[in-house]
Amino acid sequence: MNPILRLSGPDADVYAGASIDATQRQLTRKFRLRGLDAPGLDARIIVGHVLGFDRTALAAHSNRVLTPEEAASIAELSVRRLGREPVARILGHKEFWGLPFKVNAHTLVPRPETETVVEATLSSLGRDHRKRRGLSIVDLGTGSGALLLALLSEVESAFGIGTDISFTALLCARDNAAALDLSARASFVACNYGAGLSGPADILVSNPPYVACGDIASLEPEVRDFDPRRALDGGPDGLDGYRAIASDADRLLAPGGVLVLELGQGQLGTVTSIFAAVGVELVTTRYDLSGIPRAAVMRARS
Ligand code: GLN
Repeated sequence: MNPILRLSGPDADVYAGASIDATQRQLTRKFRLRGLDAPGLDARIIVGHVLGFDRTALAAHSNRVLTPEEAASIAELSVRRLGREPVARILGHKEFWGLPFKVNAHTLVPRPETETVVEATLSSLGRDHRKRRGLSIVDLGTGSGALLLALLSEVESAFGIGTDISFTALLCARDNAAALDLSARASFVACNYGAGLSGPADILVSNPPYVACGDIASLEPEVRDFDPRRALDGGPDGLDGYRAIASDADRLLAPGGVLVLELGQGQLGTVTSIFAAVGVELVTTRYDLSGIPRAAVMRARS
């Protein structure tokens, strides 16, 4: 290979004139050495993203060589990944509940475990949830809108409001609502948790920041250095967000309404007591794929 065609900085070693296959293998090696969790997958996604190829097309064209422009783009994105920027941020979007979500610097990247909250909410509505008419859904701290929009996509006649303290996050959520054709049923309000809402809602959901601030330094770099701190930092014990929601639960939750919260690991007991103290009782818990109690379903005591 002609070294003059080498375009990247020393980090990525991506070469114009190299085949797709060789490039993916080289990047996989680099990513593995850097300690990334899924080096082969990340390499494939980055190469595929730049070339506009899905997995099948990459395999079908594995001998095709990279142009200088393609190599430069792949090198640039790969260097970002080597700096531990998550693939979803590099691409600017992430799939959640089978739907595409744009993300920005002010939103969390939606996590697979947060789908547990969607599942728990839908199952609390019973088998005919899609047919329930006129339900109101409020998502406190909506970020990219993932929870709210996933629920609106399922409960077809529901109307929803997403709040966020970050106006820039809400711009992202609003774009996601439009892209999913849900704008007519989704509104967004800039406020802290439910402070700007009069309520009440039939369904109240939230994935609040729940990491104790002293634990943030030990999170994976992908989370610690790239997710917005405000979306992670739950105060000294990680529970500030739950307390803020609990203090408004009486106003925000309709009689017979359901509150579904994402939980950090080990928080079920304390979160249950915070809400029991304001008359909101735990009904059921749902576990994520790692077996962690991840969603708490609660109702106001009647
Ligand atoms: N689930 C995030 C994590 O990776 C935390 C998000 C949150 O605080 N809600 O720890």
